[in-house]
Amino acid sequence: MTYVQVHCPDCQGVDVVRHGKQRHGPQRYRCNNTDCPRHIFLLHYQHQGRLPAVKQQMVDMALNGSGIRDTARVLRVSPTTQPRWMRCGAL
Ligand SMILES: [Zn+2]
Repeated sequence: MTYVQVHCPDCQGVDVVRHGKQRHGPQRYRCNNTDCPRHIFLLHYQHQGRLPAVKQQMVDMALNGSGIRDTARVLRVSPTTQPRWMRCGAL
């Protein structure tokens, strides 16, 4: 059996335990760091827009004047992936 060190995508902590599975199969993990804003995460997201780094890029691009469709094309996410507050014209 191989052992893969899992890091939390938010706090990079290694105090991570397996936490059941998604309905369609992928392993789900839980971060035990009480200061971490994220509790449950997946190792491989099917939707890139769920990753904090990609979300940050979306925000940066929006602030630089990129439209939602430009951002979606560059980051290879669906135009509907963007955070709700961006789509509502909050910026
Ligand atoms: Zn964490």
